[in-house]
Amino acid sequence: MLDVTFKDYLLTPATAAYLARQHGLMIDGQSVAALSGKRKAIYDPASEEEITTVAESGAEDVDLAVRAARAAFEGAWAKVTPSQRGRILNRIADLIEANGDELAELECLNSGKPLQFCRNVDIYGVADMFRYMAGWATKITGDTHNPSMPGEWHAYTLRQPVGVVGQILPWNFPMNMAAWKIAPALAAGCTIVLKPAEATPLTALRIAELALEAGLPAGVLNVVTGKGSIIGDAITNHPGIDKVAFTGSTEVGKHIARSCVSSNLKKVSLELGGKSPVIVFPDADIDAAVAGIAGSIFFHAGQVCAAGSRLYVHDKVYDRVVEAVAARAKALKVGPGMLPGHDLGPVISRAQHESVMSYIEKGRGEGAEVVTGGRSLGQKGYFIEPTVLANTGPGMTVHDEEIFGPVLCAMRFDEEDLAGIAARANASPYGLSSSVWTRDISVAHRLAKMIQSGIVNVNAHTSPDASLPYGGYKQSGWGRERGAEVLDLYTQIKAVAVKLA
Ligand code: NAD
Repeated sequence: MLDVTFKDYLLTPATAAYLARQHGLMIDGQSVAALSGKRKAIYDPASEEEITTVAESGAEDVDLAVRAARAAFEGAWAKVTPSQRGRILNRIADLIEANGDELAELECLNSGKPLQFCRNVDIYGVADMFRYMAGWATKITGDTHNPSMPGEWHAYTLRQPVGVVGQILPWNFPMNMAAWKIAPALAAGCTIVLKPAEATPLTALRIAELALEAGLPAGVLNVVTGKGSIIGDAITNHPGIDKVAFTGSTEVGKHIARSCVSSNLKKVSLELGGKSPVIVFPDADIDAAVAGIAGSIFFHAGQVCAAGSRLYVHDKVYDRVVEAVAARAKALKVGPGMLPGHDLGPVISRAQHESVMSYIEKGRGEGAEVVTGGRSLGQKGYFIEPTVLANTGPGMTVHDEEIFGPVLCAMRFDEEDLAGIAARANASPYGLSSSVWTRDISVAHRLAKMIQSGIVNVNAHTSPDASLPYGGYKQSGWGRERGAEVLDLYTQIKAVAVKLA
């Protein structure tokens, strides 16, 4: 069902009440207006209607947030023991689950992702991330060392929180990305100034309220909403911020890295774009592969950094696989995520819709065959048909660039040489995720070594577990989020050397 209005949705009372509120910035434990008094409308990408407004901050609000975060870092938060930090994180997880219906509806309304995914996948993942990181709070330790310097020494390392961190989020998974950033920073003992994406601030603001309810001291988690070019820049250039963690496009990531270096050489970690390869061998379980391929590129209308957007299928099974993926694409129901029965929602905005449609047109112009899809849907909302393109390859825009929409580029291979197959998969400036579909464990493990990406999945395309490090090779980023590895981003090591004699 397309061309709906906001009134067609059945909202729970909690969601309706939340939308009706005047949302402020979260600074020092209080919801406050922007100093300028400015507000910004927030839209539902399925109906294009305004759903609420939030405060639109400027650099002066970021400054207040940084001061609050610094005061909390040196004051109340420094007095909280690791065990208490873990308890607070667990309580946040409990409150996320207890308020799961409301958070899922807000996420669906704001990001366009179908409600059943927000309710069944996102809420679980967000709560799980807080619980996983709760466990780490008491396990962040240093080492003892045996120096060979003359004399007698007692030497050890302290692993300490990095300080006040600025966290900048994208719009595709607003709640998950918030959890991936907030939970490890709190576990490590840092304080936070968080900037959600301009279009999708609602769930981050709600999580900040729940965190206070869970016992997080005021000033530890501050949320500022507004434009990346203004407050994002204010965060990356602020001398009072010690580290920036960013998730978003490679282009903005490079700009952020430059600002972090030229301001106060603050530490920076980057989770950036992708153009992830999917490689299917003839011995694979083809039905499972087809389901995995379709899921990886069409889930959330392809607005997934790890989306499997470059498909390489062995010649022997190419026709069968591409036909079956196209049949699945055709069968997917596209429509507002708030109404039941839809597999794909809209893309986030008119600008994103235009960008994806222009990629499809460029693909056609460069000789790609549209196997299925390729059209915009409905008069209202930013809907696009799940699309499969064949006859694509290196040098074509649709193959080389991240589209961030429901568009798959299918290619065939016939070489048996794994190095040649890996070279094709690696022919991209990105290196975020990948998948290999085969029953041959030797092929799987050898390719896993050769593929240049932060994640290699075998007989699956996604592995969204809090314990697995996540991040990019090449221009897909710096650093790893999730797993124990993320703690390296939020802590620093101090060597203490004591001359005993
Ligand atoms: P984006 O780069 O446009 O924006 C990301 C964030 O940066 C937003 O909060 C935005 O307001 C802010 N920003 C914009 N200009 C800024 C500036 N000058 N200074 C500081 N901040 C600024 O990305 P997007 O369109 O929101 O998200 C899509 C991109 O994110 C895709 O490329 C996708 O692959 C990537 N992504 C990566 C991961 C990952 O884990 N690797 C996860 C999700 C999304």
